[in-house]
Amino acid sequence: MRLLCGMETMTRKKDLSFIENIFVKSATILAVRCWETDDFYELDLHLPQAKPEGWTTAQRIATRISNFHYCDYTPAKWDVETKTCTLFIDGSHTGRGSQWLRTLEAGSELHYASIDSVRHAPVPGTVPVFIGDHTAIGHFSALQQLAGKQANTTGFMMVNKAAHKEMVAENCSWLNLHTICRHEDYFTQLDNYLAELPPENSYIFYLAGNSKLVGNTRKFLRQLGIDNASIKAQGFW
Ligand SMILES: Cc1cc2nc3c(=O)[nH]c(=O)nc-3n(C[C@H](O)[C@H](O)[C@H](O)COP(=O)(O)OP(=O)(O)OC[C@H]3O[C@@H](n4cnc5c(N)ncnc54)[C@H](O)[C@@H]3O)c2cc1C
Repeated sequence: MRLLCGMETMTRKKDLSFIENIFVKSATILAVRCWETDDFYELDLHLPQAKPEGWTTAQRIATRISNFHYCDYTPAKWDVETKTCTLFIDGSHTGRGSQWLRTLEAGSELHYASIDSVRHAPVPGTVPVFIGDHTAIGHFSALQQLAGKQANTTGFMMVNKAAHKEMVAENCSWLNLHTICRHEDYFTQLDNYLAELPPENSYIFYLAGNSKLVGNTRKFLRQLGIDNASIKAQGFW
């Protein structure tokens, strides 16, 4: 993993428009780590104005990418005492978020409009099953943290390329995920994965990532007889 360091502050609050200055909050980027695949980033943040002690559900941080352009990312691995967290961001596409990611260095300032609940939270007495793509690594990590260290979580994730499977296993070892590649047969593999889940547990299925994938996965689970109340779905992009 490459560690990107630098003393220069890329964006200053004085660079913001008059209107954005009214509502935008600041965080400091403590570290930027780029996966060896060169397309996925981890940002460690210090959020002095945030109140992570109140995060009882997964959150979204509306992050300023450029003038009046905000992207939602998911704070994960937060620490209440230090007000720090990590964002896991896919930079493999041509969106403005990807371009912005490549400009970041440790010491840069990050601006955000708000941090809000996504209303997904673990349900006591149930086992969380995470299903989605790699943009949901932060979301699933947040749910894992909320479920607690003793929680027995499991999951199924589609990644862009074969090397990402290794990267997820290496860099996100706290997530117990079965990973498959984009070119593999998603629904056949998902069916096999679900068939292996021990039948005695009560499961809640958390779906997140590409909106079409999330929608089709929900339909698939419903066809298998899983009731709506056991499925929590959040389309991301
Ligand atoms: C609640 C919430 C939490 C989220 N958390 C995360 C997170 O933790 N990590 C993360 O990486 N993303 C996360 N996302 C998704 C992220 O906000 C979107 O990917 C966003 O579109 C990126 O903005 P952009 O400006 O780069 O691209 P946009 O300008 O929005 O999109 C440009 C083009 O790229 C496509 N695109 C967008 N994202 C991807 C992608 N990942 N792969 C391929 N094509 C893409 C779009 O469909 C569009 O065609 C989250 C979204 C939501 C709603």
